[in-house]
Amino acid sequence: MNKQSKNETAAIRTQLAKSSYLEHSNPLYLTSSFVFEDAEDMRASFAEENNRNVYSRFSNPNNAELVDKLCQLEGAEAGHTFATGMGAIFSSFAALLNSGDHVLSARAVFGSTHTLFTKIFPKWNIETTYFDASDLDSLDALVLPQTKILYVESPTNPGLQIIDLELLGKFAKSHNLIFIVDNCFATPYLQQPIQHGADIVIHSATKLIDGQGRVLGGIALGRNDLIREIYVFSRNTGPSLSPFNAWILSKSIETLAVRLDKHCDNAEQLATFFDNHPKVKDTRYPFLPSHPQYDLAKKQMKRGGNIIAFEVEGGLKGGQQFINQIQMCSITSNLGDSRTIISHPASSTHSKLSVEERRIVNISDGLIRVSVGLEHIDDIIEDIDQALNSCHV
Ligand SMILES: *Cc1c(COP(=O)(O)O)cnc(C)c1O
Repeated sequence: MNKQSKNETAAIRTQLAKSSYLEHSNPLYLTSSFVFEDAEDMRASFAEENNRNVYSRFSNPNNAELVDKLCQLEGAEAGHTFATGMGAIFSSFAALLNSGDHVLSARAVFGSTHTLFTKIFPKWNIETTYFDASDLDSLDALVLPQTKILYVESPTNPGLQIIDLELLGKFAKSHNLIFIVDNCFATPYLQQPIQHGADIVIHSATKLIDGQGRVLGGIALGRNDLIREIYVFSRNTGPSLSPFNAWILSKSIETLAVRLDKHCDNAEQLATFFDNHPKVKDTRYPFLPSHPQYDLAKKQMKRGGNIIAFEVEGGLKGGQQFINQIQMCSITSNLGDSRTIISHPASSTHSKLSVEERRIVNISDGLIRVSVGLEHIDDIIEDIDQALNSCHV
């Protein structure tokens, strides 16, 4: 067995705790606190000398199990769970940065991450410079003496740009930067940024890791020393993941590989359908040969993921008309669900941006994002085809 197949098996079989009932399915530990045997045990537990759970804001067996599984899949030394993906992103930055530090980030980042960089961190004198990921030669000139973190998502949302992780991993090392990758769109099944030089990998577990649209969650994984700082920040500020959500997510990981393969099978067929449809312009899917970074995608990803972006004719109006014709697929703002979700960024997540700002992040007014689900592909295509054919702009 190679390492990846061993890790897939371990992710299914890992069970860190068992009660005296010897249950087969992993137990759920819904408890706020844990009992001490005596005063010495209590002292040692608070001093973190004995690896004991004390209080579920700090640690809980279900959270530890989720971390253990994801560490195996990502090839990470350590990890810590959070109530949401944004909790993981905010806490990681807040733990690792000091006032006056500087962040270098790819321009296309998740909306709330953009708000952190532009509205929240400046309050603490932390500035962010965006770089154009299609022009990495210009990166050198953007590094300042106080630059501490290099941050990217790949594939990006919703433009599906692929960013060269190996190149950036080397760049970060040579400039002594902490390299953080939001790996939410790929999951560790399709891409393992730590192998390419990432120091920290972040997930919104809300998306494909749960994969069924039920719970929110986040995780940061990576270097032991950095995760320790992130843990201490989280333990004292409180963005902890509930044990129930950790238990759900831990069970979800057991089906990650099989779900992702079906998501990718469906997405490949739908991307080919879009590529050949007369009403569709500019289909973007990382594993479509027409994708501008197809070779890079093939190099750093196992498959193309479940997100497709495409352009309908007629701009904002065309996009809205298409959305209004959809019958089966869901119109909602989540992604990575078992149900196919259609969204129109220009009239939802990115509606507050000006047309010019949207252009800069590669989001045109007619852009549609599809999070391809696990329904039968014929039914997904039938719904989308009838919606495209009823658009008249
Ligand atoms: C959804 C998402 C987040 C935020 O995660 P939440 O769980 O909603 O807080 C961060 N990054 C990416 C790429 C996402 O898609």
